[in-house]
Amino acid sequence: MKVLVPVKRVIDYNVKVRVKPDGSGVDLANVKMSMNPFDEISVEEAIRLREAGKAEEIVLVSIGPKQAQETIRTGLAMGADRGILVETDAPVEPLAVAKILKAIVEAEEPGLVILGKQAIDDDSNQTGQMLAALLGWAQGTFASKLEFKDDGTADVTREIDGGLQTINLKMPLVLTTDLRLNEPRYASLPNIMKAKKKPIDMKTVDDYGVDIAPRLEVVSTVEPPAREAGVRVESVAELVDKLKNEAGVL
Ligand code: AMP
Repeated sequence: MKVLVPVKRVIDYNVKVRVKPDGSGVDLANVKMSMNPFDEISVEEAIRLREAGKAEEIVLVSIGPKQAQETIRTGLAMGADRGILVETDAPVEPLAVAKILKAIVEAEEPGLVILGKQAIDDDSNQTGQMLAALLGWAQGTFASKLEFKDDGTADVTREIDGGLQTINLKMPLVLTTDLRLNEPRYASLPNIMKAKKKPIDMKTVDDYGVDIAPRLEVVSTVEPPAREAGVRVESVAELVDKLKNEAGVL
């Protein structure tokens, strides 16, 4: 089975995000960028499947600027086999990403697509669901455990409000990963060197005939309000009184 893993280049999760002075978006100038953390979990899961003899080839795909090659190289250094970069400097909304991914799925014919549950830049949590709908495939979202069966189905344990839900899904399958699925490995130095020789296919949006014109308009982008100072209470009785009479939560 071939596994396709879409990986997005996003602002590194350790960076404090700044809003552009004109409020038109987030400042990306001279900011450290990395692979979306949920996508690292997807790459790790794909590698574990190959190590378990359940997958043969792992193909990474990123849609973004030329520098997204680095994101693909990170996944190749972890152990993926090859990459596809659909190069564009324009912002690409989840529906357009899903349409491009659909075209790539039709060309590559993977048995499984593993996406992150969300990209930590826009927190959309849409692409995997849209891709599954466009393909007419089963979807297992927010996966914290994956188990393939001999009958061509997979048990996917999902993190939902109030607990865990296990569903049995027919392959081919779109999976989106949650934090607890695995702990991604670090790339070793020899593997980083090896990754430099692995192929990355350079494509454009036009190759897939998808209209990526934005359907959404960003009205404003603002910093979250600064947190107000708290108050120290002298006793439990005072705390209960404040919760009851000031906060109104009791
Ligand atoms: P989102 O729906 O934007 O929160 O993204 C969910 C997942 O879709 C990400 O974790 C990636 O696996 C995939 N994805 C979204 N945008 C891109 C992109 N530009 N390139 C590659 N994969 C993407």
